[in-house]
Amino acid sequence: MSTQTQHSDVLIIGGGAIGLSAAYYLNAAGLKVTILEKKDIGAGSSYGNAGLVGPRYFVPLASPGVVKKALKWMWNPESPFYIKPRFSPALISWLWKFNAASNAAQMQKALPVLLEMNVASLQFYEQIMKTTGLDFQLRQNGLLMLYKTPGGEKDVLSLADLARKYGLEARNLKADEIAVLEPAIQPLASGAVYFVEDANITPHLFLKNMGEYLRSKGVAIYTDTEVLGFAAANGKIDAVKTAKGDYHAKEVVIAGGAWSANIVKDLRIKLMLQPAKGYGITVKQPAKALHIPMLLAEAKIAITPMGNQLRFAGTLELSGLDTSINQRRVNAILRTVPQYLANIQPDQLGEQEIWSGMRPCSPDGLPYIGRFPRYQNLIAATGHAMIGISLAPVSGKLIAEIVQGEKSSIDLDPLRVERFGG
Ligand SMILES: Cc1cc2nc3c(=O)[nH]c(=O)nc-3n(C[C@H](O)[C@H](O)[C@H](O)COP(=O)(O)OP(=O)(O)OC[C@H]3O[C@@H](n4cnc5c(N)ncnc54)[C@H](O)[C@@H]3O)c2cc1C
Repeated sequence: MSTQTQHSDVLIIGGGAIGLSAAYYLNAAGLKVTILEKKDIGAGSSYGNAGLVGPRYFVPLASPGVVKKALKWMWNPESPFYIKPRFSPALISWLWKFNAASNAAQMQKALPVLLEMNVASLQFYEQIMKTTGLDFQLRQNGLLMLYKTPGGEKDVLSLADLARKYGLEARNLKADEIAVLEPAIQPLASGAVYFVEDANITPHLFLKNMGEYLRSKGVAIYTDTEVLGFAAANGKIDAVKTAKGDYHAKEVVIAGGAWSANIVKDLRIKLMLQPAKGYGITVKQPAKALHIPMLLAEAKIAITPMGNQLRFAGTLELSGLDTSINQRRVNAILRTVPQYLANIQPDQLGEQEIWSGMRPCSPDGLPYIGRFPRYQNLIAATGHAMIGISLAPVSGKLIAEIVQGEKSSIDLDPLRVERFGG
């Protein structure tokens, strides 16, 4: 074992979208930044997800009706939602809090927070692109949300009403208007809503290019370097321990995605977080390429054009820290797509790259951003659930503000890390 010792201003644990975005803003502020990543950049959830970005992601996962729907789906092996039956006190406690948070009052509190963060984040993506010249295929072509059933219609139209109430542009489309907007599809939906301001990126390009950019700017990125524990005294982290030696920094940021609760366990912190697995299946674009990302409302499937590729993403499985691929659920996603889009047959679009990732989910659908109360130099940047790509730049900016002791540009109170105890 090497005994190397490294010193930096800020040490970030985790090389996903959140860790890299924090590194970007901290480096831009002139700080010496180190990232420790147990595998490689993009080894986690930030790699093969749907890449959807934008203001529409202002409704948290915990919202009225979601628990009822989840219970109905739970027994169907091909449904979009699944809880692996097991005895886990952490899961039971999380579900308890999730249920408690899934109400209208809590949702009303979360909506403006998420909206403000999403709007800011999209602007930050644009700024990052202009400042760095990096290409991660940021496109602002909106998002089409397609529905087939009366239940789906009710949900989508009420979401559109809510979006308009908050000042977003959402256009209700009849069935025959959908293909006018996106001529590459033959929709079998009974209607749709077009969320005009939404955008998308190609997440693996963001990670790859941002990783290279950060290295070129002097950020030390150590891959294959797993954080195994900490040395702490008097409410302060003195060292971050890895098999390759100890690392020292004035500030330590936890950006370990779905693993974050495990990482801080060593410090006797109970971070309320559950991994929620999902799949991304990437194929070639059809000859007539799609341009507008889509969500198939009832099936909870996202379809995102990413240059010459098309990605289908879906399912949410509470099955612990487990990235194994359940082919039956993957097949269910692939089989469902042509039920909404007659001419899109995923099996006929070349070889499929099948990926799984785990969303880091807090019970109320809001991320954890802020200092851990028991350690003065330990900061949380995790819990982004289904919207970590959308919220990556704003989260990075907020972390940089915290580290520099600046007034936060967004109210951090709803994102407090100790809001569920711990
Ligand atoms: C199917 C699917 C579709 C999705 N679609 C979207 C979408 O369209 N839009 C959107 O905004 N979000 C989406 N998400 C959610 C998004 O992917 C996550 O919220 C986001 O990637 C979380 O980023 P992160 O940096 O926190 O975590 P990760 O990307 O998981 O990064 C954490 C990193 O920490 C590393 N790590 C873990 N433990 C240690 C350790 N002990 N030491 C060192 N390193 C460690 C891991 O290897 C990993 O690289 C989707 C997720 C899934 C699964």
